[in-house]
Amino acid sequence: MAKRVSARRVKVHRQYTYESAADALGVTAHTVRAWREVGLAVLDSQKPHLILGRELKRFIESRMSTKSRKLALDEFYCMSCRAPRAPYGAMADYVPFNTTRGRLVVLCGVCETPCNKFVSFKMFSELIEILTIATRDRC
Ligand SMILES: [Zn+2]
Repeated sequence: MAKRVSARRVKVHRQYTYESAADALGVTAHTVRAWREVGLAVLDSQKPHLILGRELKRFIESRMSTKSRKLALDEFYCMSCRAPRAPYGAMADYVPFNTTRGRLVVLCGVCETPCNKFVSFKMFSELIEILTIATRDRC
Protein backbone atom coordinates (compact mmCIF):
# COMPACT_ATOMS: atom_id res chain seq x y z
CA MET A 1 0.00 0.00 0.00
CA ALA A 2 1.20 3.47 -0.80
CA LYS A 3 2.58 5.72 1.88
CA ARG A 4 0.15 7.96 3.75
CA VAL A 5 0.71 11.63 3.08
CA SER A 6 -0.66 14.42 5.25
CA ALA A 7 -2.48 17.23 3.42
CA ARG A 8 -1.81 19.43 6.47
CA ARG A 9 1.79 19.81 5.36
CA VAL A 10 0.65 21.72 2.27
CA LYS A 11 0.32 25.52 2.39
CA VAL A 12 -2.69 26.54 0.27
CA HIS A 13 -1.29 29.93 -0.75
CA ARG A 14 2.06 28.57 -1.92
CA GLN A 15 3.10 27.26 -5.29
CA TYR A 16 5.17 24.12 -5.46
CA THR A 17 7.57 22.60 -7.94
CA TYR A 18 7.68 18.79 -8.06
CA GLU A 19 10.77 18.90 -5.85
CA SER A 20 9.43 21.33 -3.25
CA ALA A 21 6.12 19.44 -3.06
CA ALA A 22 8.07 16.22 -2.60
CA ASP A 23 10.15 17.79 0.21
CA ALA A 24 7.07 19.15 1.97
CA LEU A 25 5.30 15.79 1.86
CA GLY A 26 8.18 13.41 2.42
CA VAL A 27 7.81 11.58 -0.91
CA THR A 28 10.02 11.57 -4.00
CA ALA A 29 9.66 14.06 -6.86
CA HIS A 30 8.95 11.05 -9.08
CA THR A 31 5.87 10.29 -6.97
CA VAL A 32 4.59 13.86 -7.35
CA ARG A 33 5.09 13.64 -11.15
CA ALA A 34 3.21 10.34 -11.19
CA TRP A 35 0.25 12.04 -9.44
CA ARG A 36 -0.25 14.09 -12.62
CA GLU A 37 -1.34 10.92 -14.38
CA VAL A 38 -4.00 10.28 -11.77
CA GLY A 39 -5.54 13.73 -11.60
CA LEU A 40 -3.21 16.29 -9.99
CA ALA A 41 -3.53 19.55 -11.98
CA VAL A 42 -0.15 21.08 -12.83
CA LEU A 43 0.52 24.50 -14.38
CA ASP A 44 2.71 23.35 -17.24
CA SER A 45 2.61 26.26 -19.69
CA GLN A 46 6.09 27.28 -18.59
CA LYS A 47 9.06 25.82 -16.75
CA PRO A 48 9.39 24.97 -13.97
CA HIS A 49 5.96 23.35 -13.80
CA LEU A 50 4.05 24.60 -10.77
CA ILE A 51 1.42 23.06 -8.56
CA LEU A 52 -0.91 25.35 -6.64
CA GLY A 53 -0.96 24.59 -2.94
CA ARG A 54 -4.76 24.55 -2.95
CA GLU A 55 -4.81 21.98 -5.76
CA LEU A 56 -2.16 19.82 -4.09
CA LYS A 57 -4.11 19.82 -0.84
CA ARG A 58 -7.39 18.94 -2.64
CA PHE A 59 -5.66 16.11 -4.51
CA ILE A 60 -4.12 14.57 -1.38
CA GLU A 61 -7.32 14.86 0.63
CA SER A 62 -9.39 13.16 -2.07
CA ARG A 63 -6.80 10.40 -2.41
CA MET A 64 -6.57 9.76 1.31
CA SER A 65 -10.34 9.69 1.81
CA THR A 66 -10.75 6.90 -0.73
CA LYS A 67 -7.67 5.05 0.42
CA SER A 68 -8.38 3.72 3.87
CA ARG A 69 -11.48 1.73 4.44
CA LYS A 70 -11.73 -1.04 6.93
CA LEU A 71 -12.37 -4.46 5.44
CA ALA A 72 -15.47 -6.29 6.52
CA LEU A 73 -14.88 -9.53 8.39
CA ASP A 74 -15.38 -11.70 5.32
CA GLU A 75 -13.57 -9.39 2.88
CA PHE A 76 -10.00 -9.79 1.70
CA TYR A 77 -7.92 -7.17 -0.06
CA CYS A 78 -6.95 -8.39 -3.52
CA MET A 79 -3.61 -6.90 -4.58
CA SER A 80 -4.39 -7.71 -8.19
CA CYS A 81 -7.86 -6.09 -8.34
CA ARG A 82 -6.76 -3.44 -5.80
CA ALA A 83 -10.12 -3.78 -4.10
CA PRO A 84 -11.80 -5.64 -1.25
CA ARG A 85 -13.17 -8.96 -2.46
CA ALA A 86 -15.18 -11.87 -1.16
CA PRO A 87 -13.25 -15.15 -1.11
CA TYR A 88 -13.77 -17.54 -4.01
CA GLY A 89 -16.25 -20.26 -3.09
CA ALA A 90 -16.31 -18.98 0.53
CA MET A 91 -13.26 -21.16 1.18
CA ALA A 92 -10.09 -20.35 3.06
CA ASP A 93 -6.94 -22.01 4.31
CA TYR A 94 -5.71 -21.20 7.79
CA VAL A 95 -1.97 -21.21 8.47
CA PRO A 96 -1.37 -20.91 12.22
CA PHE A 97 1.65 -18.98 13.52
CA ASN A 98 1.07 -19.83 17.14
CA THR A 99 -1.89 -20.66 19.33
CA THR A 100 -3.48 -17.20 19.07
CA ARG A 101 -2.61 -15.85 15.63
CA GLY A 102 -2.51 -17.02 12.06
CA ARG A 103 -2.96 -16.18 8.43
CA LEU A 104 -5.97 -16.86 6.23
CA VAL A 105 -5.27 -17.55 2.58
CA VAL A 106 -8.14 -17.31 0.10
CA LEU A 107 -8.53 -16.88 -3.63
CA CYS A 108 -10.03 -13.63 -4.88
CA GLY A 109 -13.70 -14.10 -5.82
CA VAL A 110 -13.14 -12.18 -9.06
CA CYS A 111 -9.66 -12.94 -10.39
CA GLU A 112 -8.66 -15.95 -8.23
CA THR A 113 -5.38 -14.37 -7.12
CA PRO A 114 -4.31 -15.56 -3.64
CA CYS A 115 -5.13 -13.02 -0.89
CA ASN A 116 -3.91 -13.07 2.70
CA LYS A 117 -5.31 -11.74 5.92
CA PHE A 118 -3.84 -11.96 9.39
CA VAL A 119 -6.39 -13.04 11.93
CA SER A 120 -6.59 -13.38 15.65
CA PHE A 121 -8.19 -16.39 17.25
CA LYS A 122 -11.30 -14.30 17.96
CA MET A 123 -11.67 -13.33 14.28
CA PHE A 124 -11.01 -16.91 13.29
CA SER A 125 -13.81 -18.17 15.50
CA GLU A 126 -16.22 -15.66 13.88
CA LEU A 127 -15.05 -16.45 10.35
CA ILE A 128 -15.44 -20.18 10.77
CA GLU A 129 -19.21 -19.54 10.89
CA ILE A 130 -19.11 -17.87 7.45
CA LEU A 131 -16.32 -19.63 5.54
CA THR A 132 -15.23 -23.18 4.99
CA ILE A 133 -11.78 -23.12 6.56
CA ALA A 134 -9.15 -25.83 6.15
CA THR A 135 -6.21 -25.69 8.55
CA ARG A 136 -2.82 -26.11 6.94
CA ASP A 137 0.43 -26.95 8.63
CA ARG A 138 2.92 -24.18 9.04
CA CYS A 139 5.11 -23.90 5.94
ZN1 LIG B 1 -8.76 -10.05 -7.51
